[in-house]
Amino acid sequence: ILIVLGILFLGVAVLLSYFMSKRAMIPIRQSFQRQKEFVADASHELRTPLSILNSSLDVFEMEDGEHLSDFSKTVLVNMKDEVKRMAKMVSDLLTLARSETDRPALTVERFDLVPTIEQLVSSTGPLAQSKNISLHHHMPSILIVYGDHERIKQLLYILVDNAIKYTPPGGEVHLTVSVEAREKQTMILIKVRDTGVGIAPEDAERIFDRFYRVEKNRSRKMGGTGLGLAIAKWIVEIHQGSIHVSSVPGQGSTFTVALPISTSKSAAI
Ligand code: ADP
Repeated sequence: ILIVLGILFLGVAVLLSYFMSKRAMIPIRQSFQRQKEFVADASHELRTPLSILNSSLDVFEMEDGEHLSDFSKTVLVNMKDEVKRMAKMVSDLLTLARSETDRPALTVERFDLVPTIEQLVSSTGPLAQSKNISLHHHMPSILIVYGDHERIKQLLYILVDNAIKYTPPGGEVHLTVSVEAREKQTMILIKVRDTGVGIAPEDAERIFDRFYRVEKNRSRKMGGTGLGLAIAKWIVEIHQGSIHVSSVPGQGSTFTVALPISTSKSAAI
């Protein structure tokens, strides 16, 4: 009887401490949630004044641009660049803040990735051309996937845009997308290879962290925010995929993304 009573007492004590610790966690969790919602709301509110500022600068440039001194013209160009950078940062912060709230993050649909890639190549083409970088893409003629179309587009854009940004003039960028049947799942493999500056092993572990930039000045000049790869990693993770980078400093980098795909929507990624 004593042993049974002892076990019962122990069980009740364990249960009590479990529920009490759960209760104690509630205010902490609520406070985290409020903080995340604050960042999301603040980023959202900042978008409107920034877009007004941006269009006001455009109007100013159109109406008075010719009468400005060289110095004022340089100031205006700098202002426009910084407003654009800030707008990008606000939009990136909003994406990341939303990624942490309890709102649903994925809108899964069935789509062909091929037109998306073609569109991406034509929209990033001008940036590549301006740096005399040859941008190549390799893929099958049809690539049906289940996933969040907008997010996958954003993921591809971040990787290709980075590859162009961190490759000196005259270099090459290759985007290769293929399908690979693995033991339990079919995967879409996305590889973005460049012949750019590369990434040292100690930095490779950290570039997916928020605001981490290997060279702040270079990233800044390219209009970077240090948030792109954090968003890329989040997009990959919500699709239950993986992302990694291999690189030889001074010779180039290859980012590889593996996304599970499925042929039925019920088992969608
Ligand atoms: P950023 O806005 O600065 O480009 P990211 O999060 O996209 O921010 O990337 C973080 C850092 O990783 C960059 O600042 C850069 O130092 C490094 N990086 C990203 N992509 C590449 C690449 N293809 N080649 C070399 N370095 C890269």
